[in-house]
Amino acid sequence: MTTATMMDVPLTIDLVVERAERWNGAVEVVSRRPDKSLHRTTYKVICERARRLARSLVQLGIGRGDKVATLMWNHAEHLECYFGIPLAGGVTHTLNLRLHPDEIAFIAGDAHDRFLIVDEVLLPLYDKIVAAGARFEKVFVVGKHGVHDNYEDLVAGGNDKTALPSLAESDALGTCYTSGTTGKPKGVIYTHRSTILHTLVAALPDSLQLSRSDTLLPVVPMFHVNAWGLPFVSALVGTKLVFPGPHLDPPSLLDLLSSEKVTVSAGVPTIWLGIREALDGNPNKWPLQPGLRMIVGGSAAPEQLIRDFDRLGLTLLHAWGMTETSPIGTVSRLPPHLEAADEATRYRLRAKQGVPTPLVDVRVRNWQGDVPADDKTNGELLVRGPWVAARYANNETPERWTKDGWFRTGDVARVDEHGFIQLTDRVADMIKSGGEWICSQEIENALMGHPAVREAAVIGVPHPKWSERPLAVVVFKPDATAELGQLRDFLAAKFPKFWLPDAVEVVEAIPRTSAGKFKKTELREIFKDRYARATDD
Ligand code: AMP
Repeated sequence: MTTATMMDVPLTIDLVVERAERWNGAVEVVSRRPDKSLHRTTYKVICERARRLARSLVQLGIGRGDKVATLMWNHAEHLECYFGIPLAGGVTHTLNLRLHPDEIAFIAGDAHDRFLIVDEVLLPLYDKIVAAGARFEKVFVVGKHGVHDNYEDLVAGGNDKTALPSLAESDALGTCYTSGTTGKPKGVIYTHRSTILHTLVAALPDSLQLSRSDTLLPVVPMFHVNAWGLPFVSALVGTKLVFPGPHLDPPSLLDLLSSEKVTVSAGVPTIWLGIREALDGNPNKWPLQPGLRMIVGGSAAPEQLIRDFDRLGLTLLHAWGMTETSPIGTVSRLPPHLEAADEATRYRLRAKQGVPTPLVDVRVRNWQGDVPADDKTNGELLVRGPWVAARYANNETPERWTKDGWFRTGDVARVDEHGFIQLTDRVADMIKSGGEWICSQEIENALMGHPAVREAAVIGVPHPKWSERPLAVVVFKPDATAELGQLRDFLAAKFPKFWLPDAVEVVEAIPRTSAGKFKKTELREIFKDRYARATDD
């Protein structure tokens, strides 16, 4: 019997905080305030304040596993909470401020949040969630605090003599709720260990690739799966952080991207659509760093968008993940042997969701077993790995996990000869027409390549003859339009005839969830009678 001889250092958040303070201490963290002024600080100051915050929380009775909620935009104080709450042994619960107040109140109650730290500009929302039944033992405000306690006093109250608890890597560090497009939101609780491992792998050159030579602007909110884990990665490796605060309109983002010489950013496709339009309308206004990388996920990145940014000398990097996967699951980067492939192949691959990151395992399975790597056969994407949830906080929907230990993502995918995963739909959004399945996401991604189309969602609508038929809901680009026949011709080369939408509805905007995804449940409700009297062949 051989006994290993290595140190058993727990993978806990203090490793990141110590690294950020000691070795990246001078690196800047910039935050845009609600009044648009820029606040500048460093990792050193943030880590010192986070430790004081932790001590103060311990003094107020926060102990192991106690939840402290945040209702905040992206800024330095939120990062202090990311560190300070778990250093106290607590669990950071980032509340999604885009949800309905009733839903936020439900989530805060479900999680048993004890304290809340809230931005002054979000106090009107706080009042609504209290009116909806949320209760917190203490409320601290970043900014003018009025009747509530002041976040600055909370930080200042930390006494150096107060001991911080020793942390175990299996302790809870933070919690996020699923966006709940179907059913009630469910809690996912990350451990210190899952967060540290996710942080390390996200930083790798073939993952999200962050280093101390970078400056990162996370547009993705810190309340949405920890801004995809990027603040932890930045602190660990020494990336300068630029937080946009509440100003997420394209000109405000472009001002910051340009003035702070940002080299990496991250957000959902809608953000990049807006940025592309602003750049097209004003090509010389914002000098950006050549090769600026923009990580895109949360919804599929349309191939056309990737092409458009290349034309501008900027790179979109497509990644897939979920709240349940911390979130990074797959990243789409061309392997060296495919860099010389023809243009169409390269863009097709980059628009796919890609291959799993190290330590994550995926498979695509249908009722016949694992699907062949033929780029044709669809199945459900299953995932497992050290930062994938093993259950929900209240053990809801245990059927989402297979008996052999995989998480069922609810995403429909297929695999090509290179092992690249392509998402073709959500299981719940697939359309069954005359007994045959149609993948709605595939059609909408193709439609978004039409020169007149800004955005397109495809939904299944009840049909008297075929049970369901696809309907395209389209937003045209300004001053552009196309007839149903032209859109069908455009799609006809790519899809079987029965996949082509029978009708197009033109709208001004497609309804979206709080996380920027198309709200197809709402579209299906609006257009449920669209084919009620259809008698076509
Ligand atoms: P959330 O838990 O809110 O982050 O949502 C996760 C879901 O977003 C996934 O299950 C996918 O359906 C969708 N999603 C995330 N990234 C992508 C992507 N790159 N392409 C298509 N869908 C995505």
